[in-house]
Amino acid sequence: MVLTLTDLTAPQGFQRLVLAQDPQAGLRALICLHSTALGPAAGGCRMWAYPDDEAAIHDVTRLARGMTYKNAMADLGLGGGKAVIIGDARTDKTPAMMRAFGAAVDALGGTYWTAEDVGISPADMAHAAEATRFAVGLSGASGDPSPWTAEGVFRCLRVGARHVFGSDDLTGRRVLVQGLGHVGMSLAEKLAAAGARLILTDINQPALEAAATRLGAQTCAPDQVFDQQIDILAPCALGGVLTDDSAQALTARLICGAANNQLAHDGVADALAARGITYLPDYVVNAGGIISVASEIHGHPDAWRLDRLTAIAGRVDQMLARARDTGRLPAQVADEMVAAMLSPRRAA
Ligand code: NAD
Repeated sequence: MVLTLTDLTAPQGFQRLVLAQDPQAGLRALICLHSTALGPAAGGCRMWAYPDDEAAIHDVTRLARGMTYKNAMADLGLGGGKAVIIGDARTDKTPAMMRAFGAAVDALGGTYWTAEDVGISPADMAHAAEATRFAVGLSGASGDPSPWTAEGVFRCLRVGARHVFGSDDLTGRRVLVQGLGHVGMSLAEKLAAAGARLILTDINQPALEAAATRLGAQTCAPDQVFDQQIDILAPCALGGVLTDDSAQALTARLICGAANNQLAHDGVADALAARGITYLPDYVVNAGGIISVASEIHGHPDAWRLDRLTAIAGRVDQMLARARDTGRLPAQVADEMVAAMLSPRRAA
């Protein structure tokens, strides 16, 4: 193993950006620490075939900053960080590469804790954990974070429904779940059990049809999401789905889903609000997974996980009430709540 860590110039407001390379193990990864003001940085490791380093840096920095906000809002005593391994997860990943990644995480001395994200499974993380104790989300420990993410999104969606529709009863509500992966499928099951009229979509057609049959749901093509007559949209695929154009086309009055970075840019939140659509910030509602991971980092029992999960829904309630009372957007209120938590006095 010939691992090298090179500090790159971190963008303004970021703490550290490191390039980790081990040619023998085929590793080329970026680890970004956005903030450790509230505790060691924590956030998943994504593996993706980025077209170039610039795209990877853009992704890892955006995601690391999002983790600072998510971890602060969920009150986890953790800062924000993220890692990306550059490569195709289906063809390039090896146990040696994951061990080398673990060694890179270890070299950061506990300032960054890693876990699974897109393209990385608990089995991969187990290889990383052979080289560091700062890898979590392991089978036999806190396990797959996705069911926790789905439960958190579901609870927040009900709070959102109460504010928007006057009732959290989802019976007959038309809810579109975009993306039936680890989180989306679990969320769709909860929504079906709660009596929602589901519309499902995924680029994986066989999986989509099987889920629709099992849950008695309708389906739509992935590019027809914004043509559907719906009450609630739950984005659970990739980020950037809420654009200037889709904000104009959307018929839903509430958006609540797991996908990270749903807004293509911050201005889309204003466009949605102008059309009377309530957007629940992704980093607030999708914290269930990192809560589960945090319980492993801190060695807290299940009761702590559940308490923290329950607290997210309470925070959404608070955020929506404050937004209504002050005429501001929920996203602005959420950002202000985080800024207050990150203020030097609070952090100290
Ligand atoms: P996943 O990879 O298991 O599932 C994503 C699903 O979306 C797949 O079924 C895929 O086929 C589908 N998809 C991709 N592009 C699509 C498109 N254009 N239209 C419709 N479907 C599409 O991922 P996941 O773990 O379920 O996570 C979903 C989202 O939630 C991601 O954005 C992830 O970053 C975010 N998130 C996940 C967790 C977690 O605990 N897993 C926690 C926080 C945030």
